[in-house]
Amino acid sequence: MIFISAACFKTAKICPSVIMNNAATSSAPPPDLRRAYSKQFRRAAQLRFLAFFFAFFVYGLLRINQWSASFAQSATSNFYLQLVICWVPLWLLCAVAQLPPSLYRFYLDRKFQIAKSGLYPWLRDFLKANALGFAFGAAIVEIAFASNNLFPSYAWILAGILSSFLFMLVSRSLPWLLSFFYPVLPLTNKSLQERLTQLAAKARLRVGTIYEWRISESTRRANALVTGIGSARRVLLTDTLISALSEDEVDAIVAHELGHCALHHVRARLLLQSLIFVGIYYVIGLAVHYQLVIFADGNGSWNELTLVPGFFIYWSCAYVYGNILLASLSRKQERAADLFSWTLIGRSGPFITAMRKLTDLNLVVFDKKAEWKYMHPPTADRIAAAERFAKAHGEIIAALEPRVETGSMSN
Ligand SMILES: [Zn+2]
Repeated sequence: MIFISAACFKTAKICPSVIMNNAATSSAPPPDLRRAYSKQFRRAAQLRFLAFFFAFFVYGLLRINQWSASFAQSATSNFYLQLVICWVPLWLLCAVAQLPPSLYRFYLDRKFQIAKSGLYPWLRDFLKANALGFAFGAAIVEIAFASNNLFPSYAWILAGILSSFLFMLVSRSLPWLLSFFYPVLPLTNKSLQERLTQLAAKARLRVGTIYEWRISESTRRANALVTGIGSARRVLLTDTLISALSEDEVDAIVAHELGHCALHHVRARLLLQSLIFVGIYYVIGLAVHYQLVIFADGNGSWNELTLVPGFFIYWSCAYVYGNILLASLSRKQERAADLFSWTLIGRSGPFITAMRKLTDLNLVVFDKKAEWKYMHPPTADRIAAAERFAKAHGEIIAALEPRVETGSMSN
């Protein structure tokens, strides 16, 4: 969904990544707190989803698509500009509908002491994310309509390839896109840079510049990710991660990211994404042909402006379902990258201690039954696998570190 995608520019879940919280290595939220946050976090996500559909149906029921199509035709004779004009009110309504659930999520993050920023900076970032969502959504609409109008016979393949190319471009530009929200700078800690470069050399990889993503002023979340392919490959570490984990633990996490690089995970994901896109455009093409697009004055062709909202809702739904397939691949990749990390470093102890901290610090928890919705396997499973690796290799794992109870919620 495009507005979820817009939010992803902030949370950077586009590529294989490790998402984690790091309030402080000494904080250990009690299980009840994690469960409470996870439950409310999921509720916020559901509200966001419902808000999207609500906005869409309001849009259709008020016949805004008819008005915007008439206005676009009177404003310009260029069909592709007309499409953008038709996209504007739909995007605007969805952005407005997203505001309350997003505010609720912000309230949760403040209540559970995850967010540090105030309302104004949050609102500014919300607007920026939606501005990127506008550009991204407009590009998808243009790709679909241009492909179908210019090359109708193979439009679904062309649109699938072009959409994948767009995703690849986003992936390649991720450091730049993230810099709209937070400073993203080459790693300034020279000794860490040296250490990680040696680690990459050990893995026989060139990862180019390693970036530090400075988010600590607005959130306590921590994140490490790899993005891009080939010479455009980049590794990003949040400053919160660098400060929260020990050097050995940062190595273990970066080794995991190097695993994604060495095993060509980004490429495999982009390939599967391409296949999913091709399938999505094929099915939507059939819906247009048989005049099954909701709220459209269907004539079976792609030269109809009132197709825009129906196309967008179908594309968004298909994209969400496609993500379930992608998540399945992603979880396999995460397990493989974990194994790569332990093998590269020669032990899984630092990975386990890092994940133990993250289990304490990351307030979003889920179990095996719910893993189909997530890009990562449950943390408990990953720790158990690492412990099996340690046992098999005669490694002695450090006992749980002493924990200091976390502060109470700020409400
Ligand atoms: Zn990963």
